[in-house]
Amino acid sequence: MKLGGTSVADADAIARVIAIVRAEAESRAADKPPVVAVSALAGVTDRLIDAAHRAEDGDADGATASLNELLERHLAAASALTSGKRHVELVAAVREEFAGVVGMMRALAVLREVSPRSFDASVAAGELASSRIVAAALAERGVPAVWVDARTIVITDAEHTGAAPQMAETCARTSQSLGRLAAGGQVAVLGGFIGATVQGITTTLGRGGSDYSAAIIGACLGVDEIQIWTDVDGMLTADPRVIAQPRLVRQLSFAEASELAYFGAKVLHPSTILPAVAKNIPVRILNSRRPDSDGTLITAAARPADGQLTAIACKRDVTVIDITSTRMLMAHGFLRRLFEVFERFRTAVDVVTTSEVSVSVTVDDTRRLDAIVDNLRSFADVACEPQMAIICAVGENLRADPTLFVRAVTALERVPLRLVSQAASRRNVTFVLRDVDVPNAMTRLHDEFFRASVHHEGTRLTKSF
Ligand code: ADP
Ligand code: ASP
Ligand code: MG
Repeated sequence: MKLGGTSVADADAIARVIAIVRAEAESRAADKPPVVAVSALAGVTDRLIDAAHRAEDGDADGATASLNELLERHLAAASALTSGKRHVELVAAVREEFAGVVGMMRALAVLREVSPRSFDASVAAGELASSRIVAAALAERGVPAVWVDARTIVITDAEHTGAAPQMAETCARTSQSLGRLAAGGQVAVLGGFIGATVQGITTTLGRGGSDYSAAIIGACLGVDEIQIWTDVDGMLTADPRVIAQPRLVRQLSFAEASELAYFGAKVLHPSTILPAVAKNIPVRILNSRRPDSDGTLITAAARPADGQLTAIACKRDVTVIDITSTRMLMAHGFLRRLFEVFERFRTAVDVVTTSEVSVSVTVDDTRRLDAIVDNLRSFADVACEPQMAIICAVGENLRADPTLFVRAVTALERVPLRLVSQAASRRNVTFVLRDVDVPNAMTRLHDEFFRASVHHEGTRLTKSF
């Protein structure tokens, strides 16, 4: 069970998820209790990152003041949820966690430098504190919960701020430590998002990484289901921040979920599905404010053919890079040379299209863009276009029904499209367009496929004209 930031935003929200965890624990065999991965309280990771930036600017007092506010917020939750000796111990642990970060930020402010390694050590405080609070709050209400330091379990490489798990080591530790707790009927509670190298250096799995933590641990334990508890009813047909009333997608395939997560459906971290696929474990997205609704179930099986798209995602503020070379493009080895540049600067490419004389790619991580462009210019002409976006229409049915593609393109006929791509899997159609055109384009696409349904049962839509 992964509890997202808004699901643990404050004492009231934590009280709600405690009821959810308790019900799950009670419905299961005594030696198969749930394992709980907790995000930082809502907004805390953003605030910790902001404090790190202040430290980088040399503003030690600003960073400290901000951390003290965060500490107060955690102490308020701790006071509302625990009492007596448990409260005293929890407060001491949370204070110690924040004192550690304050000390670190003050040192970093002197250096005016926050390395990725120091960054991870600082932001991990959010999950370390929240998971301690949730564990204590569960215990306070009689659920046999034990806090576990995720850094002793989730072992990763040293790619700070976006570390990848080392599954063999992680699984060995998971089954040893969490397996023992489960056998004793205890609910293990640990922070999501964080891990450590084998040397014990704190790492993080990238923003939104608590989903990934839950899937990694779930895969190691071979659980029946990975539950992602969040603030929406499940995977929706579009980002609710872009489309006012998207619909719930009741079921989708791992492949569809991966595409949607990768192309912007923030409700799921893009890597979450990987461990689940490896062990064929269903992933369910659920709303902690409406625990009785069914949510979205993600499984290996493709959805039944109902002639529809599954959902639309958008990834905003990407950069298009056009690489043109009249001499070289058809020469063998050109593409290798081109993509080696992206590999050298560890930058992922999202969409690729080629024509006879040019290759266009999109990237969203522009930290090393200047170096990439410089390198590409040694053998091609290069032009960059920022403030672009990707819209990705996803559905297993795209493969079987070519009219879906036509309908999608037709729905966008008045929107200037920069690139259009359909990959071999034919599970998605990807459009690259100006970021300012996203609301209009998303509305048109969503209207075409999901509006005016007279009947909506998950993804079964009947369109009325
Ligand atoms: P949590 O803190 O629980 O991890 P997130 O904010 O990371 O929550 O993810 C949930 C949010 O994802 C939703 O509130 C919603 O705004 C956003 N979102 C974007 N696209 C989608 C989508 N297709 N379906 C559901 N939610 C989406
Ligand atoms: N707290 C982390 C973040 O905000 C991880 C997560 O919430 O999944 O990115
Ligand atoms: Mg999230």
